[in-house]
Amino acid sequence: MSKDFVNYGMHEPDDDVKIYKPDERREAPVLRSAPVESIEREYTEKSEQIESVDRPAQKRTVRRKEVRKYRELRAGDIAVPLLAAAVFAVLWFLPTTGWLRTLSFLLPYFIAGFDVILKALERISQKEFFSEALACTLASIAAYAIGQYFAAVLIMLLFRLCHIIESYAVRRGRKQLSELLSIRPDSASVETAEGVLSVTPDYVNVGDIILVEPGERIPLDGVIVEGISTIDCSPLAGKTEPVAVTTGYRVLSGCINITSPLRIRADRSYADSTVSKILRLAENAPENKSRQEKLIAAFGKYFTPGVLVLAVLIGLVPPIFNGQWLEYIQRGAVFLLISCPSSMVLSVPLAYFGGLGSAVENGVLIKGFDYLESLANADTFVFEKTGTITEGKFAVTDVVPEGLGERELLGIAATAEMYSQHPIARALRQASSAIVDAKDVRAEDIPGRGVRAYIGSKEVLVGNAALLEENGIGYKVPNRSGSAVHVAVDRRYCGHILVSDRVRRGAFDALENMRVQGVTKTVMLTGDVLSVARPLGSKLNFDMLKAELRPEDKLAAVDYLITNKGGIGTVAFVGDGVSDAPVLQRADVGIVMGAMNCQEAFENADVLIMDENIGKLPLAVKMARFTHFIVKENTGLALIAKFALLAGSALGFVPIAAAAVVDSGVVIFSLINSLRTMKSWKE
Ligand code: ADP
Ligand code: MG
Repeated sequence: MSKDFVNYGMHEPDDDVKIYKPDERREAPVLRSAPVESIEREYTEKSEQIESVDRPAQKRTVRRKEVRKYRELRAGDIAVPLLAAAVFAVLWFLPTTGWLRTLSFLLPYFIAGFDVILKALERISQKEFFSEALACTLASIAAYAIGQYFAAVLIMLLFRLCHIIESYAVRRGRKQLSELLSIRPDSASVETAEGVLSVTPDYVNVGDIILVEPGERIPLDGVIVEGISTIDCSPLAGKTEPVAVTTGYRVLSGCINITSPLRIRADRSYADSTVSKILRLAENAPENKSRQEKLIAAFGKYFTPGVLVLAVLIGLVPPIFNGQWLEYIQRGAVFLLISCPSSMVLSVPLAYFGGLGSAVENGVLIKGFDYLESLANADTFVFEKTGTITEGKFAVTDVVPEGLGERELLGIAATAEMYSQHPIARALRQASSAIVDAKDVRAEDIPGRGVRAYIGSKEVLVGNAALLEENGIGYKVPNRSGSAVHVAVDRRYCGHILVSDRVRRGAFDALENMRVQGVTKTVMLTGDVLSVARPLGSKLNFDMLKAELRPEDKLAAVDYLITNKGGIGTVAFVGDGVSDAPVLQRADVGIVMGAMNCQEAFENADVLIMDENIGKLPLAVKMARFTHFIVKENTGLALIAKFALLAGSALGFVPIAAAAVVDSGVVIFSLINSLRTMKSWKE
């Protein structure tokens, strides 16, 4: 097959565009040079190859194991324990004595515990010598040995009950995240010279035209080249209203096209598209272990062996001296039983899963459990002004030229700002109808200052006062409020353009809300002038404000806050993702607002607020705090219960059956408690 045939996407689309009906599109288009089936086969073969490259064999087995562990409920899960209980009850009332009685209870014991014993052996065969199942098995054997048949059977039954609830809880936790994973598009319809082909999204090239029918998911990020429609971005941004879009609009993969067909020119490959980035993020999040989990792992490392040693000592040493074997073996068995920090090990990640899932539901992506924790602990919030506290949508309010026309000044400024991503640049481009000599422009951004551009042979500086000062160029101080964008051509001052921005709706409430939740310090950092920043700062009750900062000054300010916070709480930085990567990374937790429109956010931020709603910020804090609270509640309860049981049984107050009930009770309570993090939230 010829190469350019495979690279079908590089051709330009025909001018007269057909919009294909869905059923028409599914059919193989007629091709001149090769039969369609062969191409389609090639696509599927290739996609299979990619699938197997993406998922190495090792990962597959891990997945399968998990599936087995958290299987669906089966009838036996209920029938077997009931049977064991019934058999036990019958035997209990039979007037047997001595050896016969001892042997008879083996029947309900094995009915209840067969699975558990099997599990313990399985773990041993996997070289995991100490497992919960083994602890339970040993404790129940000890109980049986001293004639506590009831306790022995009960231990087994409770162990099973815990596992059933665990399966249920974990599956619910996963379900929430996997619902998010359903944003993955299955196919893309690509226009080719020969017609429309349905391919897997990773086969679409940048520049290809894709067709998206109403009701379909947009498979790749791109720009609309034809069509008027509304799209639903709630799969990405949580509960949001549909957006009207038309030719020239940029749309993101994962959103759903609602009203009418759209032709979209893909401007990113599938791997770089928003959908892939979100999926990667969601899949990797649980790998970022939280501090709590690490603590528990460390705790388990000492607690379990310590308690085991104590179990043996208590069970076997005192009776050598006092001969009370039954009593002390029972105390040792209790120790054995509670040697596993199981409730914490299970419930903590489950709670974090829930928290992550509810956040996603509200359009807040958190990159990992540890960031959720930092967010919960954050007591200092540092905000950038432009695009974060304000909308970042500047409008030109005044043009003050010096020795040239208004239009000309705007034209020069817009041309110099041709390539800049800064919101001011966007405003200037929008305000000016003329971009002069567009072909002959080279420009560089000077972060926190403006741009330096060469238009033809002319050097043009566009930016704030500091930029002109640094270049030794005199300028006029504007006599009106607003941010001034000064323009100099070949080192000669040409006047300034005043631009102004609006405070985000709900910014005041959002900040107040965060203070109510215990955020003690709010800081605003901006590269803008003090005269613009100060009124804003006092209006929103910021505790601290710094203006006229370059990006490196912002970094230094955040650095200062982190090193001087005295070890309490964490420092969060909230930005719009434009040129603030170093600060986002330096802060304990870096948050980007409006991440849907900022590709850099996926790499640089720890927490992504997908849409532009600043009200999501206090919501994210609230969800994180609640999750963290549940985690602390669970770990606290488990610790208290375990140590109380240990102390009580060492002194002989706790019968083994009671210990089993309390310990499993804590497990079940904390699992169910963790599910509370999955609740729905309102702003
Ligand atoms: P903030 O900290 O508020 O986000 P920035 O660091 O993005 O502000 O920019 C700081 C200041 O630098 C702006 O207020 C503006 O005066 C100037 N500036 C930065 N980039 C540009 C640009 N492309 N064009 C004009 N002015 C710019
Ligand atoms: Mg900025």
